[in-house]
Amino acid sequence: MPKLTIAKHYGVCAGAGDSLKSAYRIREMYDGRVCTFGPLLNNSSVVEHLNKQGILTIDIGSYTNGNYDPGRIIQALDTIRKGDVIMITAHGLEKELVDDIKARVGDAGSVYDLTCKRGVSLAQKTARRYHEKGYGVVFLTSEKNCFHPETRGILSYARDSYRDSSDVLLPSDDTLLARADLKEVLDSAYTRFTKTSAVITSRLDICSDRFSYFLSYQKKGIGILAKTTEETSWFNRLSSIIKEYVGNAFPRLEIDTTMTICNATQQRQNALKEMLSENHLEAIVVVGDETSANSKKLMDIAIGMHPDLPIYFAKDWKGLCSDGLEKLTCCNHIGLTAGASAFPNDVAEIIRNLRAID
Ligand code: SF4
Repeated sequence: MPKLTIAKHYGVCAGAGDSLKSAYRIREMYDGRVCTFGPLLNNSSVVEHLNKQGILTIDIGSYTNGNYDPGRIIQALDTIRKGDVIMITAHGLEKELVDDIKARVGDAGSVYDLTCKRGVSLAQKTARRYHEKGYGVVFLTSEKNCFHPETRGILSYARDSYRDSSDVLLPSDDTLLARADLKEVLDSAYTRFTKTSAVITSRLDICSDRFSYFLSYQKKGIGILAKTTEETSWFNRLSSIIKEYVGNAFPRLEIDTTMTICNATQQRQNALKEMLSENHLEAIVVVGDETSANSKKLMDIAIGMHPDLPIYFAKDWKGLCSDGLEKLTCCNHIGLTAGASAFPNDVAEIIRNLRAID
C-alpha cells in the first residue's frame, strides 16, 4: 500500500465556505428562481451540487486558459428575468455588470454580492483606494488569468465608470445599458493596457511601449497589486523589477505596493512546497477543477520544483481513475494537495480510495 502524505493546508478555504453557506441561506429565503451569475466556485462538482439544491447557474461561457466571449456574457445577462434573485460569485464581477444585473431584476435588494470578503473584495478595495488617490493600477497575474472574471472585476474598481472613464467613452445615460454599449464595456475589459490600469504578466510587459504609454499617462503615481491566487515570491520579484524600472524611467511617479494574494492561497502553496521538500515523493495528486486558477497554480508549483515527478490533476476520483490510476498505485509514496475551490466530498473520496489501495 503506498504511503499517502497530505499537505498541511489543502482544500476548500474559508472564503469559499462562506460563499457556499450564504448561497444555501439565500436559497431558503426565496420561493422563486435563485441563480448565480456564472459558477459560484470554479468547480463543476460544486455547481452540480448547488443545482440539486435549487440554485441555478447562469452560463456565462468559458474563460479557461484565457478564452472568452463577451457576446456570451451579454446572452447570459439576457436570460435574467424580473424578480430573479441573483448571486454574484466568489471571484466577483465588473461593478458595471453588477449594476446592469440590478436593473434587470428590478430590485437591487435581490442581488447578493458573494464576492469573497477574505481576499477578492480586499483586492477590489485596494484598486479603488489607488484610483481615488489618483494612481494608475498595475495588476500582476499570469498570462492565462489576464481576463479571468476576478481580474476584470478588480480592475473595474480602478476606473470611475465605463461612461465617464477615459478608457471607454460611452454616450448612453440609461441605467440599463443598450446592447451595443454593453458589448463595448465588455470588449474594454479585455484590454490589458488602458489609461487607468495595466496588467503585467512578465518582464517583457515591463519593457513594452504599452506599459510606457500607461505610465506616461499617470499624473501622480502607481499602485501595484496581484490576483489573489498568484505566488508570493513571483509577485515580490516582479514588483521589485517594476519599482526599479519606474523609479529610473519615470522618477516623478510615486509607487506603492499592496499584497493582495490571499492567506488561504499562500498557506496552500507554502504547505505544498514544504511537503515536496521534506518528503521523497514518487507522485503528486492535485485535486481541483481545470477552471480553478488556485488549483492550477498548485500544479505549476509542483512542476516548477520537481519537473520529473508525475503529477495527477483531477477534480474527483473518476477523473483520477481515467488519468493513470494504475501507475499511481505502483508508487511507494504519494503526496496530495487540493485547491481552495475543491469540492470537499470529492477530496474526501480521493483520500479514502487512495488509502484503501492494497
Ligand atoms: S482562495 Fe482566498 S480569495 Fe479565493 S475564495 Fe478562498 S479565501 Fe477567498
